[in-house]
Amino acid sequence: MKIDNLTFQNKYISLNEEFYELTQPTPLAEPYLISFNPKVAELIDLDKTSIDDSRFVELLNGTFTPKTSKPFSMCYAGHQFGHYAQRLGDGRAINYGSINGWNLQTKGSGETAFSRTADGRAALPSSIREYLMSEAMHHLGIPSTRALGIIGSETKLLRNGIEKGAVVMRMSPSWVRFGTFQYFTYFKEHEKLKALADYVIVESYPHLENDEDRYFKLFSEVVEATAKLIAGWQGVGFCHGVMNTDNMSIAGLTIDYGPFSMLDDFDFGFVCNSTDKAGRYAYGEQPNVSYWNLTKLAQAFEPIVDKKRMDKKLDDYGAFIYPNAYMEVMRKKLGLALELDEDMNLIKELIGTLQDAYVDHTIFFRTLSHYDGERMPIFELAMNPIPLDAWLTLYDKRLAKESRAQKERQALMLKTNPKYILKNYMLQDAITLAYGGNFKRVEELLYLAQHPFEELSEFEHFAVETPEHYKNVTLSCSS
Ligand code: AMP
Ligand code: MG
Repeated sequence: MKIDNLTFQNKYISLNEEFYELTQPTPLAEPYLISFNPKVAELIDLDKTSIDDSRFVELLNGTFTPKTSKPFSMCYAGHQFGHYAQRLGDGRAINYGSINGWNLQTKGSGETAFSRTADGRAALPSSIREYLMSEAMHHLGIPSTRALGIIGSETKLLRNGIEKGAVVMRMSPSWVRFGTFQYFTYFKEHEKLKALADYVIVESYPHLENDEDRYFKLFSEVVEATAKLIAGWQGVGFCHGVMNTDNMSIAGLTIDYGPFSMLDDFDFGFVCNSTDKAGRYAYGEQPNVSYWNLTKLAQAFEPIVDKKRMDKKLDDYGAFIYPNAYMEVMRKKLGLALELDEDMNLIKELIGTLQDAYVDHTIFFRTLSHYDGERMPIFELAMNPIPLDAWLTLYDKRLAKESRAQKERQALMLKTNPKYILKNYMLQDAITLAYGGNFKRVEELLYLAQHPFEELSEFEHFAVETPEHYKNVTLSCSS
């Protein structure tokens, strides 16, 4: 399909007008294409040749809007760093409707009714980061929004210094947030709360549509999906950085990429967001924060679901729903097919060991995927290998209880523990080059993002330990 023929569905704007504001994009000056993602284009049956169609830049820049689209921005609230903001909304995102169940949205298209005092724009660096990282997360097997393309421009933005404006076109099966529910409960709009729950059921949990107990089941499924999501983040070493309830997806997806980071050396206390002085969203805190955020979602559901039932579900989240999801991820990473009670201890010991060893999180698990009893290749990774020795003894004992052949275990681990992840310093290099008009690195990293488990000899230099001075770099929210 050509861009001119894209046909949008507009279900969200058939909800009451309090859910959104119709919005027109404000074009950027002298826009140019940085990257087009053919794998995502396929999802909406868009021709791959659109990369050469000037209409694509026009679509992202808002100078061409397909006739069937009625652009709008969504209204929501949320707890930001623990404090409730009663009206946030898409301050810089504009939705165009959905195609094949994918909701298309631009980020950085100018002021909306929800921009408050900000400019509605997104700077080039954070846009390149989101474009690449959302794709990486999807290919790492973690639920995420996707990105269709990115444009840059000569529009100047005032941030920490002067930046240039960019737009990413993102796609998601859902853009509804925990904060969208909070908005209607706060204003005691209980009919609208039900309408929102029904909308979410049709969009993301359609098997519940005719269920009499559907609102409780919706809450329960969000709890389960959140457990899987956060366990996925912990397993791969992803730090979100801004786990406010307005950035929590009702469909259990990774959304709103800001000052995120992948772990360099394993560090439970790593805080990637430089504005998060208290470490609220530290890597090791993410499971606790997800629980806290779910308690806020439960409060938002109180007008339509029995509180006691939700409290029980929340207790279960802490007691076994999250721990089980995490254990499943970690058993896969360690190549364990059997589920034994002792595994919890093995994994706890591993976390303490990695914390003490000063070892690159990704390279450790990739190297462990080749483990055949020879410890030296693992010791060589760590600044302090001593604790690894004791843990490997535990691991050897545990592996002895598996009946699966070593080769088979290794093959599965190599499909679970990535060779390539996008570290901040790699993204930063791509951004620096893009500022000079060279987008080759963006394309290379897009390719890596889409092939995290493959051995790619020409990209071996992207699978090395982070240079010391680039380790644990933090970023701010202002983007
Ligand atoms: P975030 O935590 O980055 O997802 O953003 C929190 C809120 O601030 C959301 O409502 C955003 O839409 C809004 N926001 C962030 N940056 C801007 C901006 N440059 N212009 C307008 N709104 C913004
Ligand atoms: Mg957000």
